[in-house]
Amino acid sequence: MNYRHAYHAGNFADVLKHSVLFALIEALKAKDTPFALIDTHAGSGCYALDSEEAGKTGEYRDGIARLLFPDLRQSGPSKLPPLLRHWLDSILALPGNEHGLKLYPGSPLQAALAMRATDSAQLCELHPEEAAHLRELFHHDRRVHVHHRDGYEALKALLPPKEKRGLVLIDPPYEAQENEFRLIEAALKTALQRWPNGVYAIWYPIKLRSQVQPFLRWLQHCGVRRALQAELLVHPDDSPLRLNGSGMAILNAPWHLDQALREPLHAMARLLSQERAAEWRLHWLVQEGDAQTPQAH
Ligand code: SAM
Repeated sequence: MNYRHAYHAGNFADVLKHSVLFALIEALKAKDTPFALIDTHAGSGCYALDSEEAGKTGEYRDGIARLLFPDLRQSGPSKLPPLLRHWLDSILALPGNEHGLKLYPGSPLQAALAMRATDSAQLCELHPEEAAHLRELFHHDRRVHVHHRDGYEALKALLPPKEKRGLVLIDPPYEAQENEFRLIEAALKTALQRWPNGVYAIWYPIKLRSQVQPFLRWLQHCGVRRALQAELLVHPDDSPLRLNGSGMAILNAPWHLDQALREPLHAMARLLSQERAAEWRLHWLVQEGDAQTPQAH
């Protein structure tokens, strides 16, 4: 377990992952009834962007920092779409960020900031130090429960949640990429048996496209009636040596999530382009009724 998210916090992949997470939580909040979030690979919860780790890679500079150009946060046609603006505002409202972005909240803290008093979160983290940070961060928050354990294993015990509605976020480190996809498939198989109606959001890295295809095909046949894929590529997906892009696969995606994400994805591609124009894709892997035409840009 060598992976530490502190080196990557706020990078272009986190921008996609966490803005989609924000959109999902907003969709869940459309109903008054409480929901549960289960984060199988939670990380440490919050990252200082002036830390040695973040400074070593500087990845956030080509990620979240690109959304902070002063004029972007105003309203107007060329500005940030409302979803991204609200997401960014919630990050900047974090204590410690009063004078600019110093702290980047990870998925557990972003979720906790967006959740209501009646919603709850179950956070799993296997690394002892990261789990200890998480516990410390949330010791005062009675909505949040931290589990120092394997997130895949924990799904068996945590599903279905008592709220009977909610979201499972699966965001592993992919230290051995092919193997991680198989672990996710096995965990999802059991999870879907226990809780077929849950929303499942799975983040995946894109290096070589051919490494991702078997997993996407598996999702198409895993038995859910709706699965949405949102991807952002900053480099061509033909090199195994670097992170070229990433995607979120959302099983049992809320209705209209595709509409909510279209404009933000377009804006992210505009803002996060590196040597070439970034590409985005929003595609129903599985859809009730007829399959839709993929939208790639
Ligand atoms: N979800 C976090 C976020 O968005 O802020 C980032 C998570 S990071 C990509 C992956 C985390 O999974 C690491 O902190 C790592 O220690 C942890 N991890 C690795 N294997 C695990 C497992 N089997 N169960 C739970 N956590 C695990």
